[in-house]
Amino acid sequence: MRALVKSVPGVGMELVDRPVPAFAARDVLIKVHYAGVCGTDLHIWEWDAWAAGRLRPPVVIGHEFAGEVADLGAAARGEGIFAVGDLVTAEGHVICGHCVPCRTGNGHLCVRTSIIGVDRDGAFAEFIAMPASNVMHLDGIPTDVGAIMDPIGNAVHTALEGGDVAGSTALVLGCGPIGCFAVGVLRAAGASLVIASDFNDTRRALAVRMGAHHTLHPERDDVVARARELTAGLGVDLVCEMSGHPSGHATAFAAARPGGRVNLLGTPSRTTEVDFARDVIFKGLTLYGVTGRKMYSTWIHMMRLLQSGQLDPRPVVTHRFPMERIADAIGVIKDGSAGKVILDVAR
Ligand SMILES: [Zn+2]
Ligand SMILES: [Zn+2]
Repeated sequence: MRALVKSVPGVGMELVDRPVPAFAARDVLIKVHYAGVCGTDLHIWEWDAWAAGRLRPPVVIGHEFAGEVADLGAAARGEGIFAVGDLVTAEGHVICGHCVPCRTGNGHLCVRTSIIGVDRDGAFAEFIAMPASNVMHLDGIPTDVGAIMDPIGNAVHTALEGGDVAGSTALVLGCGPIGCFAVGVLRAAGASLVIASDFNDTRRALAVRMGAHHTLHPERDDVVARARELTAGLGVDLVCEMSGHPSGHATAFAAARPGGRVNLLGTPSRTTEVDFARDVIFKGLTLYGVTGRKMYSTWIHMMRLLQSGQLDPRPVVTHRFPMERIADAIGVIKDGSAGKVILDVAR
């Protein structure tokens, strides 16, 4: 099969021929239709310090995908849940099921998490083997949308944690694909006001298409002052920090209302300075760190939002490429001209 592989440490990826992956008794072999390309893949392409410290080449890249069941291990077949030809996607974090987080309903925080396309072979390939327990039927969701349910799930997790979105006011800092999806999720969940902020004009335009009521530019606008103006001087109920910009934390805590909530997904590349007494403790803020997708409540909520049509993520998808154009796919992510980028793997 054809696969995009980080063959050796260093910049780039190679399109190579590899054997179709072997699969175990409880695995499902999936023929990949589409795969999402994301910022993580850019880090891997560029072989930054994180990638160099984490990946052990050779490894097939890609962690966001959907496709059809091509074969099953004996035990997975015996369960009768999946059959050849079923359209499916999968949670890309493979977890142990035995550690304290796993056994207390927090599998997304498993201490032995192995991520496809990072720690084990991934989805930029014609076939991928996944544990059946990670696989989900798409049930009417098209495979090009199924391919981006990993980042949509990040957005669902970030926007809905706290559970109080209906009628609320929200600020989304950072309008990359996950930030734009979060805007759509907040609107679908009934937020009365969604403000979105980003330096990039293309991304702010995508946030508007996903339903943002107001967009702000962090250099041209005073984001905290504008958020307060739009909320009768109070600040917003919920801030979703998706930017990872070093100033994002201070902005997030200042823009939240007293008693508000800040859900943090963006990962700054350095430590950030926060006045915890003034901005968190005396304001009574609730902070929540978002990792991955809750298994599987995030997926269940996301499935329903997509199947009902309440959430349409497609405006965020700006580019589609075949696998041999991975350099172009990485290029449009790097230069900031893209929303979500999809690889047409089956082409
Ligand atoms: Zn991703
Ligand atoms: Zn675990």
